[in-house]
Amino acid sequence: MAQNGFSLRFWGVRGSHPISDRGSLKYGGNSSCVEVKAGDQRIIFDAGTGIIGLGKELVKKNQAPLILNLFLSHTHHDHLFGFYFFEPLFDTRNRVYIFGPRSEKRSLSKTLRAAMDRTLFPVGFDALRANKVIHSLDGNESIELRGSRQAPRVAKVVGVEDMQGEQPTVLTYKSAAHPNGVMLYRLCYKNKSVVYATDIEQKRGGYPEIIEFARGADVLIHDAQYLESEYTSRTHPRKCWGHSSVERAAEVAAKAGVKRLVLFHHEPTHDDHCIDQIVKQTRRRFPASVAAAEGMVISF
Ligand SMILES: [Zn+2]
Ligand SMILES: [Zn+2]
Repeated sequence: MAQNGFSLRFWGVRGSHPISDRGSLKYGGNSSCVEVKAGDQRIIFDAGTGIIGLGKELVKKNQAPLILNLFLSHTHHDHLFGFYFFEPLFDTRNRVYIFGPRSEKRSLSKTLRAAMDRTLFPVGFDALRANKVIHSLDGNESIELRGSRQAPRVAKVVGVEDMQGEQPTVLTYKSAAHPNGVMLYRLCYKNKSVVYATDIEQKRGGYPEIIEFARGADVLIHDAQYLESEYTSRTHPRKCWGHSSVERAAEVAAKAGVKRLVLFHHEPTHDDHCIDQIVKQTRRRFPASVAAAEGMVISF
């Protein structure tokens, strides 16, 4: 466990849908899931297919009941494919706090239940027997994670500020720059922070509010699905699909003055060679760049 800092592990890095072929072995084919250990808390961003492997490892390693904090950026399929297969959710001894955006008037709880409707999935939501505490978010919240005995404390915040408290705290920012909206998260702990900003379609130069939200972060995990040439292609443009180009992600990282950029939510048609080239190009714009890869660990 990371007692005084952060430890990040990438379990799923692919956007849109999982893939499995020889050309993607280096970066991996599972969809979005990042595990973060901060202090004695375990935080999970998104429940794409990557979360299935994480669930198996957690069950294998832990005898004691698990207390987990799952933050969903949104509920599009590629971020939820693994939710119904996440083993800790089936064990009555475990407690899972689940956070994610409300969809207009529909609560997160209702959306998760609808995703497991029997026309869509064979096992109903009530089969997930863990103690689940589900919070719908609207943005501009701070969520203080308070150890194993106390529930997280959710409060409204004004503006962006790093939390200096003793407990890991997550700040939220809701953006409309993705179809049906997306929640961005900034996890702060002991003057360090990581920002999770997937499924976000940056405008050229980046949205000032998002640049401020990411200001000075130690790690920025950012949507980098397309090359700018793909995004703006005349014959097959990807505008309004809700994703950033790699170039725009690098621009945001530079303007926000983050220490490290992790390119994330890789386009399924980009093979390992293509992503290698993308990293090389991105380092010319923002030297402290890496591409997220399954199994990659970042500690700081
Ligand atoms: Zn996605
Ligand atoms: Zn999406």
